[in-house]
Amino acid sequence: MQQAASRNIGPIVLLGSPGAGKGTQAKRIAVRYGIPQISTGDLLRDNVQRSTELGALAKDVMARGELVSDNLVCDMVRDRLRQPDCVRGFILDGFPRTPAQAGWLDAFLDREFFENSRAGDNPPIVILIDVDYNQLLSRLTGRRTCPTCGRIYNVHLQPPRVAETCDLDGSRLVTREDDSDAVIRERLTAYEQQTRPVAEYYRRTGRLVWVDGSMPVDQVTEHVFQEIERHGVITADGG
Ligand code: AMP
Repeated sequence: MQQAASRNIGPIVLLGSPGAGKGTQAKRIAVRYGIPQISTGDLLRDNVQRSTELGALAKDVMARGELVSDNLVCDMVRDRLRQPDCVRGFILDGFPRTPAQAGWLDAFLDREFFENSRAGDNPPIVILIDVDYNQLLSRLTGRRTCPTCGRIYNVHLQPPRVAETCDLDGSRLVTREDDSDAVIRERLTAYEQQTRPVAEYYRRTGRLVWVDGSMPVDQVTEHVFQEIERHGVITADGG
């Protein structure tokens, strides 16, 4: 039996509304399987912070809770997926978010990634983490993030040991600018209108795996790992 962290896993796509727990689960998958978490939200926020050209274009759109244009996001993802740490597989967290992005990803994987990867040419494992609307609202309004290590907390559901302080490194936790009430509603609307059809796109091609994201976080992780093991690609050279 090969170690989970050295197997060739291939692409994993995490779908789900803002607040569904994609970021938390993606970090756990990354540790277990030794593949990178690629969060388009984190990459965009990093560009905004560094005041890059992309950051300048994305900043106001993100502050309104709307989606950044497909072209900009796809170019950014392409550059990231070309990095050598992706060859055994990777986790996409927050991408694709529109049917156009999903079509772009399929074409990119066929045209380029599968040629160079050590993960075979199996299609992505697509996991939809589903949570109902009211629970999402309470999760998003309670969300706090550590600006140093990126760990995510929730003041209602997963509070830190000391209020507003990271358990791991003692940093003061921050609330994301787009976690205000009005912007949260806008982000949930963008999800329903633009991202739900992405789940349908993958469901039609028989690739969608559904996980109940309203369970306690460790149980969600257990289900996610089970699905990856069930659908996972373990290629002969093993890594
Ligand atoms: P997230 O951290 O995934 O909730 O993303 C934060 C914000 O970044 C979103 O509300 C969008 O404005 C933008 N964003 C992240 N991923 C994408 C994407 N795949 N397509 C378009 N916009 C995105």
